[in-house]
Amino acid sequence: MSPSPALPALPAEVRIREVGPRDGLQAESPLPVHARARLVDALSVTGLREIEAVSFVSPSAVPAMASADEVMRSITRAPGVSYVALVPNVRGAEMALEAGVDGLDVTISASPAYNERNVRRTVAESLGAVADIVGRAGGLWVDVTVSCAFGSPYEGDIPASEVASLAREVMSRGATSLTFADTTGMATPRRVADLVAAVGANVRFHFHETRGTGLVNAYAALLLGVVDFDTSVGGLGGSPFAAGAGGNLATEGVVAMLDDLGVATGVDIDRVLDAARLVGELIGRPVPSPVAAAGPRTRLASA
Ligand code: ZN
Repeated sequence: MSPSPALPALPAEVRIREVGPRDGLQAESPLPVHARARLVDALSVTGLREIEAVSFVSPSAVPAMASADEVMRSITRAPGVSYVALVPNVRGAEMALEAGVDGLDVTISASPAYNERNVRRTVAESLGAVADIVGRAGGLWVDVTVSCAFGSPYEGDIPASEVASLAREVMSRGATSLTFADTTGMATPRRVADLVAAVGANVRFHFHETRGTGLVNAYAALLLGVVDFDTSVGGLGGSPFAAGAGGNLATEGVVAMLDDLGVATGVDIDRVLDAARLVGELIGRPVPSPVAAAGPRTRLASA
């Protein structure tokens, strides 16, 4: 599809980090290792270049993410695909490196109260952990996700200027890149614009559909020149630590929109829909994504 001359100029290309096997599955009943590896493998043939495959967190805190090293051993590594892991601390980073991941993702919250519940640390302690993890990463890519970047159930709105100053602190600890997560589904296009004005467009966004604004927020960010997004196959996900956290922005929803806009993703929508069907089978219920349910716009749903 060629770009519409009636729309503002859009980026030619968008990069998608698929987070379904981690963010999508973490709040589900634990799946066996082989099923998690099967999902990662189904995603690795879609054209996605980066997959957050696992997290090295305490299995008692997040049972669905136990045995991350076994998942990493069980997947078939596809050429050109980076397999990254969420890690909460240096110990997790060491386990991830031992398991052969290609990059690390560390979370810090713009909400002090959420940070203490999510990783049981103050924000200052989390900044220290970022520096420690960067020190142990051996040159590997360390992305830092700033969660609750659009507000928190505890503190309410968090001004973009505060989020931006935390982001500067994170980068000064040696992070390679920044992701801003709408953990609680409080983002709107206007607030996306405010945050891009404060932090620049060279960042990644991670949107949720808690209030049905994930896709329109992604479109707003795209119009502002943002080209990096987290998405989750089937729209699965949400944090087990944020009450009311809804599903993640669905990979197939974003790819379908970008295909129609003429923005390249390198991702094959049909193969993503295959992976969405697979994850629905694995969790035993239909996934929440509308595009998974209805099919791409010019095709009838198979069911
Ligand atoms: Zn998420």
